[in-house]
Amino acid sequence: MKKFAVIMVCMLMAFFTTTQAQDNKSPFIGDWELKAGGPLDGATLGLSIKDDGGKLKGILAAPSLGANQIELGNIQVVSSKELKYSFGIQGIDVEASMVLKDNNSLTGTLAGQYPFEGKRNNDIMSKLSQSQANANAVPERSDKIGAGMTPTMSEYWSPKPKVVTPGNQATASAPSDAIVLFDGTEKSMTDNWVTVNMRTQEAAPAKWIIKDGAMTVNKDYQNGGGDIQTKEEFSSYQLHIEWCVPEMDAKFTSQVRGNSGVYNQNMYEVQILDCYNNDTYVNGMTGSIYKQTPPLANAMRKPGEWNVYDIIYSAPVFNADGTYKVRPYITVIQNGVVLQNHTEILGTTEYIGFPQVKAHGDGPILLQCHGDPSPGISFRNIWIRKM
Ligand code: MG
Repeated sequence: MKKFAVIMVCMLMAFFTTTQAQDNKSPFIGDWELKAGGPLDGATLGLSIKDDGGKLKGILAAPSLGANQIELGNIQVVSSKELKYSFGIQGIDVEASMVLKDNNSLTGTLAGQYPFEGKRNNDIMSKLSQSQANANAVPERSDKIGAGMTPTMSEYWSPKPKVVTPGNQATASAPSDAIVLFDGTEKSMTDNWVTVNMRTQEAAPAKWIIKDGAMTVNKDYQNGGGDIQTKEEFSSYQLHIEWCVPEMDAKFTSQVRGNSGVYNQNMYEVQILDCYNNDTYVNGMTGSIYKQTPPLANAMRKPGEWNVYDIIYSAPVFNADGTYKVRPYITVIQNGVVLQNHTEILGTTEYIGFPQVKAHGDGPILLQCHGDPSPGISFRNIWIRKM
């Protein structure tokens, strides 16, 4: 009897699977609930793939990113298991892939490196549109990073820091006790910097573009692009770093114009952006502690000219329960003008939500590859002195 029941269940399952396979011309068709990893850390996204007269069409729902009906573009069936697509969000073109594990689950990546897991869920699109409506009404309070929040909820736009024209400054060569992290050569880049794949956590030598004594962000994630970080981990330090935003089309504005950043101990971002006649939220300007503290001034040089950051970073100390015993502090000077004066860092610099306190030890310096379509910025003459 038991055996019979098992056979019946198997037959029913086989029938159901076959029927579904016949109904769905493509195995990708359906509604999928995605859990994002990497910087989106657990955010739930919805993906709906439909057949439109023999062509695949799709919608992405991402209420936690402030967008609920993003039409997918450039959908390509790579194989019976893999689909590639792209979508625009916050002015950024993101390429994504999904790979079927079986008929009901998948894995994938956003921007070539940020991982996600997915499963079929017929209710996810309506559930997310409801959560978008709720988010627009009253934000949900929770300890979870960014729960119920959209990115704009942690931006503010005034008062504007005053514009200061920096004086002439000679390029500083490194002091005798500094560790030179980049001297303009490919060797110093590959000796000191790696790219860590967000999905596999494997580190590979940095592959940014070396030209004329500078290295330029490589946004080609399929060919070694992405963030780079120092091999060495640091505690407190003085960091000197020079950077240049290339001249570019006026269509690139706000955060999609020369966006990069220096992540101190891989936790706390000092923003890099072209803020020369480019308006954005003040706690996302050049020299802001991202989404926390705006800079005291706007000391940007024009695109095509070199900017200098001198950063004095004091590492935090943690209590046994993971709270700060001593908070991190930072001073940032751009082109000889103080932007942050021993500013208390409140926690991690989140794109969505508020700062989080996460205990950590020594960490690398990370330079951000912001995956937006604007031309990448360049860096030169990077050195660090431990304190
Ligand atoms: Mg940035």
